[in-house]
Amino acid sequence: MKSDARVVVIGGGVVGASVLYHLTKAGWKDVLLIERGELTCGSTWHAAGGMHTLNGDPNVARLQQYTINLYKELEKISGQSCGLHMPGGIMLAGTRERFDWLKMAKARGRYLGMELELISADEAARVFPIIDKKHFVGALLDPIEGHVDPYGVTHAYAKAAQIGGAQVVRHTRVTDLKARGDGSWDVITEAGNVHAEHVVNAAGLWAREVGRMVGLELPILAMQHQYLITEDLPALKGQKELLTCIDFEGEIYTRQERGGVLLGTYERAGVPWSPLQTPWDFTHSLLPEDLERIAPSLEVGFQHFPALAEAGIRKVVNGPFTFAPDGNPLVGPVRGLKNFWVACGVMAGFSQGGGVGLTLSQWMVEGDPGADVWGMDVARYGDWATLAYTNAKVRENYSRRFRIRFPNEELGAARPLRTTPVYERLQAEHAVFGDYCGLEHALWFAPSAAEATEDITFHRSNAHPHVAAECQAVREAVGLLEISNYGKFEVTGPGTKEWLSYVMANRVPKVGRIALTPMLNERGKLIGDFTLCRLAAERVFLICTYAAQEYYRRWFERHAPPPGVTLRPCAMEYVGLSLAGPRSRSLLQGLTREDLSSAAFPFLSFRRLDVGMIPALVGRISFTGDLGYEIWVTSEYQRALYDLLVGAGAEQGLKLLGGRALNTLRIEKSFGTWAREYRPIYGPYEAGLGRFVDLEKGDFVGRAAALEERDGGGALRLVSFTVDASDADASGDEPVWHDGKVVGWVTSGAYGHSVRQSLALGYIPAALAGETSGFEIEIIGERRKALRQSAAVFDPDGSRMRA
Ligand SMILES: Cc1cc2nc3c(=O)[nH]c(=O)nc-3n(C[C@H](O)[C@H](O)[C@H](O)COP(=O)(O)OP(=O)(O)OC[C@H]3O[C@@H](n4cnc5c(N)ncnc54)[C@H](O)[C@@H]3O)c2cc1C
Repeated sequence: MKSDARVVVIGGGVVGASVLYHLTKAGWKDVLLIERGELTCGSTWHAAGGMHTLNGDPNVARLQQYTINLYKELEKISGQSCGLHMPGGIMLAGTRERFDWLKMAKARGRYLGMELELISADEAARVFPIIDKKHFVGALLDPIEGHVDPYGVTHAYAKAAQIGGAQVVRHTRVTDLKARGDGSWDVITEAGNVHAEHVVNAAGLWAREVGRMVGLELPILAMQHQYLITEDLPALKGQKELLTCIDFEGEIYTRQERGGVLLGTYERAGVPWSPLQTPWDFTHSLLPEDLERIAPSLEVGFQHFPALAEAGIRKVVNGPFTFAPDGNPLVGPVRGLKNFWVACGVMAGFSQGGGVGLTLSQWMVEGDPGADVWGMDVARYGDWATLAYTNAKVRENYSRRFRIRFPNEELGAARPLRTTPVYERLQAEHAVFGDYCGLEHALWFAPSAAEATEDITFHRSNAHPHVAAECQAVREAVGLLEISNYGKFEVTGPGTKEWLSYVMANRVPKVGRIALTPMLNERGKLIGDFTLCRLAAERVFLICTYAAQEYYRRWFERHAPPPGVTLRPCAMEYVGLSLAGPRSRSLLQGLTREDLSSAAFPFLSFRRLDVGMIPALVGRISFTGDLGYEIWVTSEYQRALYDLLVGAGAEQGLKLLGGRALNTLRIEKSFGTWAREYRPIYGPYEAGLGRFVDLEKGDFVGRAAALEERDGGGALRLVSFTVDASDADASGDEPVWHDGKVVGWVTSGAYGHSVRQSLALGYIPAALAGETSGFEIEIIGERRKALRQSAAVFDPDGSRMRA
């Protein structure tokens, strides 16, 4: 084994091998993979090898498409067969709701270029003859599905990488990792040390243990998973290969395996494996079979696939593989650990392994993943994703693998975990809570405890009239919203202004003022939207999306403040309440001796004020687009502030509102939000944020690319639509049609209660941005007429927030 390498990849499963190959493809040849046993000896060797293109996150779905299309190239380069079978796939729906879900999946697939086809139960039985059609209402066909040989794929990656210059060392365990002062690593192995510039943790079942070598507790858990293979079925003899299949109601997947059928299931009562520590002597190993545990699924399966009930079982496989809490991979650089990368938690290695390898290699070589990988970025989890949290969420996710996730559905595992001081107060007002990064936040308020649950549905739910009343209070009187779930940073010290001016695209505001600003990467794409609140010459409070706080911290490490400037995350130190609506000023004015008149405290002011006895930071701004204030206090004051505002608000008609109403109100104003309208695939001019980019202020990250975008106009445009919807609104990822062709996609949607219209925001080609009509948005399989609006549908000139 060599003693120096540019990169050491730890782990020779399908993921590590893919990373190795993609690094060589991107031009890094001095790369070494270290594997403790034989290649594939972790979870890879016993996988069923199935692959499919659908994923809840369209950006992850794109990387799955890439993976599946890669296998032919890989076979050609390596000379190693991947055992590729592409019979196509069928997804069976046993209920109307599932069929609606398939319609939505087909619609989403449209703008990803997927050719999916909805068929009847009769047609399903014709193309997939082993089912009893009476259990199904219809199905979705996907021509790009199949299966591969796990051994073949992993070796093909490794061989192709070796042809590209990489080395693979087997039977050598990495036992420790030591960081050097310059950011490089000493990789300690059973066969000596390797000095590496970069280390990639692709250790699959042992990714947690490798993480612990550097003090990292990755949110990963392995689950036991079983499939069986039947004896040969006479019905398959001499026939073309069966489609791969997912039967959602049975929670079963199948594919043909020689003359028989492989049938696997994600049972509801899934069992974790090695929840605390993965044993190092588990090599090419399996777990004892436990058919009893999957018996309920098998019973349904044998009714749905009668031919399987009659066939004997040839083999049962029970093996472990790892999941992150949301079931998507964990990929990318880790904050606080220079040149340490992860590519783990990959639960669908044969659909995702190629995309993970591509992304990570581009990130390492180019400094940017080259795609929107937010859905699998390791930075989407923070300290709150502990081992026990992960355990609860992974078990929940596993048990729901084939269940519908409704757009308004909140999941129950690991809750409540984080609560703010006013939690019980809101609970007493019948708040229906949602979970955001483990933090409880009110979604809407029911009139009574008995009504404080939401029906999960694709249509408007029982929350609809209550959200309408909350919106009405904001537009006509005053609403009170908890806003603790925002990310926050405090930047202090000499040089604060200069540093912020360099990392943000807009000008830093004057003291006492607020500025909205995009944050761009070097490619000029949006990686954040911030509110800069300048409290003093050298003290700026940054407000942003909480879910992206780790992601921002990692970015701020790369573009670190100079000596003397301190950046301090303080999200949970400051909790907040917001007042919004025409009566918010008179309400707040009654509680402070400061002059809140528009002349003395105009729109976008930010000051330290006393509200009653409570010291607070107050900004005159509201995401609802109305006259409003955001009031930040340290947590010990939040209850007192709440009681004060609610008490004084009674005579002003104050009403509590939650996240659902806020979403509606901001869509009425065409205000975008991170991870929906603002993502690293869009530029600021495309997203309508050009007015917040100051190209005249001097250099800043992404300036050259932003200038180019401004001059070229950008390819896309964020636009708002009113939609002819009936009882279901767009919620995101629906296709936008124009003149019979899919031209774009929805990023957010809701019913606009103040304007009594169904609304959607979405991206379309810039060339179509001048068109008003001819658009349609596909909601649950139906194309609904949509009119592009040239301005926000509510208060287009913004006079209310400036009042
Ligand atoms: C029963 C079953 C069926 C499945 N079916 C499918 C399917 O149909 N389709 C699909 O896409 N996925 C399937 N999977 C999931 C699939 O197996 C995983 O997505 C995939 O194997 C993950 O690969 P990996 O490289 O991340 O992990 P692993 O395969 O676990 O690889 C990690 C490697 O790292 C090595 N390693 C760890 N620590 C060290 C160290 N310290 N030093 C040196 N080497 C180290 C290990 O020996 C191991 O070889 C299935 C899994 C199971 C259990």
